[in-house]
Amino acid sequence: MRAAFVALIVAAALSAQTAPTHAQRPARMAIRSAMVVEGPGMPARGPLDVVVEGNHITQVGRLPAGWQGVEIDGRGAYVLPGLINMHGHVQENRGRMAMDVDYCLKLWLASGITTVRDVGSTFELSKRLREESAAGRRAAPRLLLYAWFGRPETPEKALERVREIKATGGDGIKFHQTYRDILNAALEEARAQGLRTAIHMGVEDSHAVHAADAGITTIEHWYGIPDAALREGGQAFPPEFNYNDETHRFRYAGRLWREADPEKLGRVLQRMVDKGVAWNPTLSIYEAARDLQRYESQPQFAALLHPALAAFFAPSRDNHGSFFFGWSTEDEVFWKENYRLWMAAVKDFARRGGTVTTGEDAGFIYQMQGFGYARELELHQEAGFAPLEVIQHATTNGARVLGKESELGRVRAGWLADLVVVKGNPLANLKIMRPDSGAIQWVIKDGIPYNAPRLMSEVKQVVDRARAAENKPR
Ligand SMILES: [Zn+2]
Repeated sequence: MRAAFVALIVAAALSAQTAPTHAQRPARMAIRSAMVVEGPGMPARGPLDVVVEGNHITQVGRLPAGWQGVEIDGRGAYVLPGLINMHGHVQENRGRMAMDVDYCLKLWLASGITTVRDVGSTFELSKRLREESAAGRRAAPRLLLYAWFGRPETPEKALERVREIKATGGDGIKFHQTYRDILNAALEEARAQGLRTAIHMGVEDSHAVHAADAGITTIEHWYGIPDAALREGGQAFPPEFNYNDETHRFRYAGRLWREADPEKLGRVLQRMVDKGVAWNPTLSIYEAARDLQRYESQPQFAALLHPALAAFFAPSRDNHGSFFFGWSTEDEVFWKENYRLWMAAVKDFARRGGTVTTGEDAGFIYQMQGFGYARELELHQEAGFAPLEVIQHATTNGARVLGKESELGRVRAGWLADLVVVKGNPLANLKIMRPDSGAIQWVIKDGIPYNAPRLMSEVKQVVDRARAAENKPR
C-alpha cells in the first residue's frame, strides 16, 4: 500500500518533469496520440506518436509502454510539418521607425512557420539571424537568404553580382524587374553557381515565358503571367498613366487579368509547367485591394499592430504598397474579378502539374507577419484547393522548390524535426492556423519546442514597449 503510494508520487513527479521546456531542445521528445498530416497530400492518420531525437524525427508510429522522454500530449491535436513561408522579409524598421526583429520572427514561429525564404532584407542582419536560428540561440524560423539582386547595368556586371551573392553566403537570388538580357546572363551564372532564384516581374521587356525559358526557379506574385497572354500587344493604359505612381500601378494591375486571352494563358501556364517553374502567388498580400475595409479593421490590430507598421500602412506616397488614395468601389470591383481570374489560373497551373507554394510578403499593404500566412492558406482554399492540398503547398511543395525535399516538409522518420502541434483539426477549418486563435500549441523547429501562446505574449510585449516609447513626451 505504502509502496504503491510512493510509486504514484514518483510517477507524478516524472510526468511533471517530462513536459517540454520552451526553447530548450530535449534529447528525446514524443508527441503522443496525435493525428498526423504527413505533408505530401496523404490523408490524416492516427492516433500516432511522433518521436524526435535531437533535431530529427526518428519514428512515427506507436511507442512501447514505459518509454521515457519529454512528452507533448497530442490527444485532440493534429501534427503538421513545420510550415514554409516562401516569401518573407525580415524587417528591423518600417518607414523611419525601428521595429524589433523579434516581432516578425516570433509572429512567424507562433504561426507554425519554421522556414522562411527571405527574399530581400538587410543581408548582413539576416545572415546573423540565420546563424543564430541554426544554432538554436534565437526563437526564429530557419532562414534561407535569397539576396536582392539589385540593378546591375550590364550582363558582365550581372555575372559579378551573382558571384558576389554566392561568395557572401546567399542561398539564392531574388530578382525584381530586371531587363531580359541581364536576367538571361544572371540566370545562366546562377545555375553554374548552384543558386536557386525567384522573380517579382513588372510590366517590362520580359514576361513569365521569357523567365521560364531562361530557367527561373519561382515566379512571385503573378506579374508577368497574364502579361504573356495579353489579347493586344500591351495592356490598355489611359494616357495619363504613370508607372511610378503606385495608385495608378495598383489600380491598373487590378484590370490586368481580364485582358489575358484564356487560350493563350493556358499555353503560358503549360510552358511554365514544362520548364519546371514553381508559382508562389502570395494571394494574401494584395487582398486589401479587393476589400480595403476588411484590412483596415483587422481584429488583431488592437493589441498586436506594431506602431511602426501602423505608420507604414497609412496611405503615403513614400511607402511601398500604401497606395490607397481615393480607392473606389469600382477599384474593388475590378480587383474582385482580378482575383477570380488569378485564382482560376493558379488552380489551372496546378491541374497541369505545376508546383504551387505559399508565401506571405507581409509588412506591406495592411498585412502582418504570420496573420498574412494564415490568410494565404485560406485563399488557396478559396482558389479551389482542398485543405490537404493547401497543407501540401505550405510544406512539401515549398521544401521541393527549396531543394530540401529530403530534409523538410514532412512528418516522416529521417526528416528534420520541424513540426506544428495544433489543437483541433485544421483540415476542417484553416482559421485555426491564425496565430491568435489559441489552437497552435507547440511549434518545433530543429527539435526545439516553442510554446506558441508564450511567443504571442512576447510579441505583445514588443508592441507594448514600442507603443510606450512612442507616447513618451520628448
Ligand atoms: Zn516581397
